[in-house]
Amino acid sequence: NRQFRLIRRPVGHVKREDFEFRTEPARAPEHGEIMVGVEYLSLDPAMRGWMNEGKSYIAPVKLGDVMRAGGVGTIIESKADGFVPGDVVTGALGIQTVATLAAKDCIKVDASLAPKPLFISALGMPGMTAYFGLLVVGEPKSGETVVVSGAAGAVGALVGQIAKIQGCHVVGIAGGAEKCRYIVDELGFDGAIDYKSDSVPAKLRELCPKGIDVYFDNVGGQILDDCLAQINLRARIVICGAISQYNNTTPVKGPSNYLALLVNRARMQGMIVFDYADRYPEGARAMAGWMKDGRLKSREDIVDGIETFPETLQKLFTGENFGKLILKV
Ligand code: NDP
Repeated sequence: NRQFRLIRRPVGHVKREDFEFRTEPARAPEHGEIMVGVEYLSLDPAMRGWMNEGKSYIAPVKLGDVMRAGGVGTIIESKADGFVPGDVVTGALGIQTVATLAAKDCIKVDASLAPKPLFISALGMPGMTAYFGLLVVGEPKSGETVVVSGAAGAVGALVGQIAKIQGCHVVGIAGGAEKCRYIVDELGFDGAIDYKSDSVPAKLRELCPKGIDVYFDNVGGQILDDCLAQINLRARIVICGAISQYNNTTPVKGPSNYLALLVNRARMQGMIVFDYADRYPEGARAMAGWMKDGRLKSREDIVDGIETFPETLQKLFTGENFGKLILKV
């Protein structure tokens, strides 16, 4: 079993030296456990937060432990009822080639329905984040204006497409001309803002002439401030993530113009996808249905080789990933 263990709490950006890449014998499953051959691992911005000490929505990865990561793989050996070798499962498999874990913490998926990477993309965690975050927390109504940042990424690209399906006017904010072209030409967004070269406030005024009803925030920082400045009465701001702040070595920058919430009786609400775990089947069914009808596209950026983990993870923070970043084991 080849695996990455966290051996040091990163300061700022993650470095290879924060991990030990080592090989050890795979552990045989005990009662209630399965041994899984890991095939694809989900690389998520949240992993950066899990490496930090301190209270969060989930305990930090302990020093010396295998780095936590969602993944999909095939059961090699089972000591759990209802799970047999050959079954395909998703779960917190960790950055390793073989995972031995409790079957109750895994979800069995029907691999005949879709390629395996999709179960950690549109039909998995990012998909559920977009679906429940937008529809339950954002509550978009037909005709409203929805703005999403990180718009060409795993979650953001899905949020924009779901908002279009709801009949909204959708504007995405992403880095670079290619990503902006993609979300408009391929995904059907009404407009795109390249935050690396456009003036975000000026472009928001141009592309959202009626103001912003829902802002789905994946990035935080200045872009959150710029969007708050143009919200409408009773706007909903979904705080999904703040990737611009995850590698800070100084305190996180909060919105300076939060009084826009007061003036507009608006709501800003955090969401954590795990809270909707009992509704994933509903979300996955809806997403799969839209994909089948050609109304929703999912894009995966698959990098080969578990040994590239630290450098590949870093792509999320440089914007080099284009679509859901996945490590092929
Ligand atoms: P993405 O596929 O969107 O990849 C991250 C993207 O963030 C990069 O491609 C880059 O795109 C953008 N980015 C990086 N640094 C900055 C910056 N400084 N300013 C603006 N944009 C930046 O990742 P995910 O879709 O997996 O995650 C998106 C967000 O959703 C993250 O904040 C993540 O933490 C959050 N999330 C939250 C969940 C929850 O339950 N609350 C669950 C899953 C994800 P670009 O090239 O456009 O700059």
